Amino acid sequence: MTARRIDGKAAAAALRERVASAVTEFERQVGRAPGLATVLVGEDPASAVYVRSKGKATAEVGMASFSHNLPDNISQAQLLDLVHELNRDERVDGILVQLPLPRQMDDKLIIAAIYPAKDVDGFHALNAGRLATGLDALIPCTPLGCLHLLKAELGSLEGNEAVVIGRSNIVGKPMAMLLLGESATVTIAHSKTRDLANVVRRADIVIAAVGRAEMVRGDWIKPGAVVIDVGINRIPTADGKSRLVGDVAFDEASEVAAAITPVPGGVGPMTIAMLLRNTLVAAHRRAGLEGPEGF
Ligand code: NAP
Repeated sequence: MTARRIDGKAAAAALRERVASAVTEFERQVGRAPGLATVLVGEDPASAVYVRSKGKATAEVGMASFSHNLPDNISQAQLLDLVHELNRDERVDGILVQLPLPRQMDDKLIIAAIYPAKDVDGFHALNAGRLATGLDALIPCTPLGCLHLLKAELGSLEGNEAVVIGRSNIVGKPMAMLLLGESATVTIAHSKTRDLANVVRRADIVIAAVGRAEMVRGDWIKPGAVVIDVGINRIPTADGKSRLVGDVAFDEASEVAAAITPVPGGVGPMTIAMLLRNTLVAAHRRAGLEGPEGF
């Protein structure tokens, strides 16, 4: 079998287009565009690239973008002041604080200060708890993007065996909650899981969110499984440069799986599209509107 390549770039472009039309409709009803504020502390180049592309994507769908770039020597109290100011700002529907923060700051404390209705990353404990208890929540963008791709591929996930490798609060745990919500039978594996290969072999759906280059081998995959690779790992190449690979050995797994996401071009583009979707949803809730339809 040669697996179908799941095109996350195309799925993300389609979603962004739908968000853009919904933004126009929101603006017509409310008299302003939904707004996303991004906060970047320090000059980590990777974080700066992420934040810039988030700001650009926000503007492209017609949303208002408010970017705050702060030096890494600001105090935690100053950052908290900014978060409180954004919480109060009526033009801001979503607040994204780029992680990780510099060492002198406590990520958890900053996330806890974001008003949950504006927590478009879905990292606040209230949103995590709401997701876990089956209530309406703002859901972390990466697992939400994975779910979108899975449902496009499989339709109903009911009764499927799903194995999520990784138990972070950002990807693994919310992914497991989403799959459970779709009535899949869910296993969460992690670094202490015994005989991981055999655990993965029973999965109809594999989600790899580990951060270890090509750890999941082709012979771990059940024939016909759907594989979603969240990992982003940079490995050196023979010419002294480097390239991006996922947590799954793509070529090997492609010979066994029914469908698989590539890295890059799979889950990555969905993450930003879902951030826009979450901002749109947050804006509707804050404005007391129904909808948006179809999201
Ligand atoms: P993380 O917080 O470092 O969590 C990694 C998880 O993998 C942990 O639960 C860890 O287990 C588990 N793990 C580590 N080594 C393992 C092993 N040998 N066998 C089984 N499990 C193992 O990472 P994360 O934030 O969830 O991110 C995971 C990957 O996804 C990274 O490559 C990251 O760059 C990528 N990512 C991509 C996107 C995107 O938009 N595409 C977004 C977010 C993250 P323990 O809990 O036992 O330590």
